[in-house]
Amino acid sequence: MDLPFAKRISKIKSGNESGKYILYWMQGAFRCHHNHSLEFSIWLANQTKKPLLVLAVVDPSFPKANFRSYKFFLEGLKDVMVDLSQRNIAFQIEVGDFLKIVPKYAESASFLIVDKAYLPNLRRIRRNIYERVGSTIFEVDTNLLVPVDVASDRKEPAARTIRPKILRLSEAFLNDFEWFEYEGPRIEVDDRMNLQNVETALNDLQVEYVPPCSMVGGHSEAMKKLERFIEEKFHSYAKFRNDPNLDVESKLSAYLHFGHISTQEILKRLKQTDDVENYEAFFEQLVIRRELAHNFAYHVEDLEDLYSLIPSWAVKTLAQHVEDEREYLYELEQFEKAQTHDEVWNSAQRQLLETGKIHNYLRMYWGKKIIEWTSSPKKAYQIMVYLNDKYALDGRDPNGYVGILWCFGLHDRPFRERKIFGKVRYMGLGKIKRR
Ligand SMILES: Cc1cc2nc3c(=O)[nH]c(=O)nc-3n(C[C@H](O)[C@H](O)[C@H](O)COP(=O)(O)OP(=O)(O)OC[C@H]3O[C@@H](n4cnc5c(N)ncnc54)[C@H](O)[C@@H]3O)c2cc1C
Repeated sequence: MDLPFAKRISKIKSGNESGKYILYWMQGAFRCHHNHSLEFSIWLANQTKKPLLVLAVVDPSFPKANFRSYKFFLEGLKDVMVDLSQRNIAFQIEVGDFLKIVPKYAESASFLIVDKAYLPNLRRIRRNIYERVGSTIFEVDTNLLVPVDVASDRKEPAARTIRPKILRLSEAFLNDFEWFEYEGPRIEVDDRMNLQNVETALNDLQVEYVPPCSMVGGHSEAMKKLERFIEEKFHSYAKFRNDPNLDVESKLSAYLHFGHISTQEILKRLKQTDDVENYEAFFEQLVIRRELAHNFAYHVEDLEDLYSLIPSWAVKTLAQHVEDEREYLYELEQFEKAQTHDEVWNSAQRQLLETGKIHNYLRMYWGKKIIEWTSSPKKAYQIMVYLNDKYALDGRDPNGYVGILWCFGLHDRPFRERKIFGKVRYMGLGKIKRR
């Protein structure tokens, strides 16, 4: 059997294929558009003449998830519910522990299909589940343009090393998509979660309260954002993307994080503009930088210990400067409440608290200053991860950990030595003020 999008699919194990349905556990690509996992599941259901069941598990104990991120996530699930229903496909939403729920549903399935994960904690959860499942299992890499295993088999040290590998394959992967019409019946499911009213569903979950942001989740909202970006900002992306005053950004990162929109769909739409200069500038961020971050997350086993994650030159130089005097010293609470002496930094932090997002250029400044005003790099790393994961709608993502680690020298090079940072790149207010 020739599988569609075969290069995106890995067979995790062969098992008992006598179950009564095909199970797609949607965990990572919460959308019905340009979702290779979904299309592959439909294809398999048609081939085997078994019905398809799509399962989403809302696990309230999911690490660092809170009211803000759950609201966005559930809004995305609402779109999935509508889209699957239009394609006559059953969608089961369950609330509870992944480790219990997925194996329970997989018990009666002939095949389990899962979105590929990149972060160490999500890979661990999958491995744990796979041990408890007896059916045949496939993983599908649908959230990257070039599948992480195909792009490279090692942890890439920098954008310059992964760029040629991705560029060589990008055209072929841009076009590897096929849509299949589901031919099977719709299985009856229980309505465990009423998504008509997301607020009520959220209150029932009883997760940590972080005030929600105005940005609404889901594929349909992501498409509106993309169209607005093309209309108003895309034409000046290459020139002005680093200017925080002009706000020339797509604001798609949270949608990408939850898999509400695919890289492939964004790129295909941008190609239609025939604006090569801005397409290439956007490609550099969306594909090269983002897929470098995913390559990193995929090749590490945890993201806890700063010094095991950054290059040795950066560990050495930061350690040599750990005793340097800091002109300002703040604790987590002062950072969190935007109570530093620096109004630019405070306004970036307030933006994070209120909107769930900081402009990319300011985000670098935000991170670099936390290093400068904290007693040690390890503590600075913990503070940054805590704030980013709690408040950023696009947090808890490979891009987030790598963006933070970049502030400590990851995927960067040594610069002229100075206080606190040693040879790690420094950022001052100068450029920001000029802008
Ligand atoms: C300290 C720090 C923390 C960060 N935390 C996150 C995070 O939690 N989640 C996150 O998605 N990004 C993070 N970034 C990277 C970057 O700031 C965001 O991706 C970007 O601001 C998202 O806004 P946008 O979608 O409007 O970007 P656009 O400029 O419109 O870019 C389009 C897409 O390209 C990707 N992209 C853009 N810049 C980068 C980059 N530098 N590295 C990797 N991918 C990129 C994103 O997926 C983004 O959505 C962080 C950067 C730093 C310095």
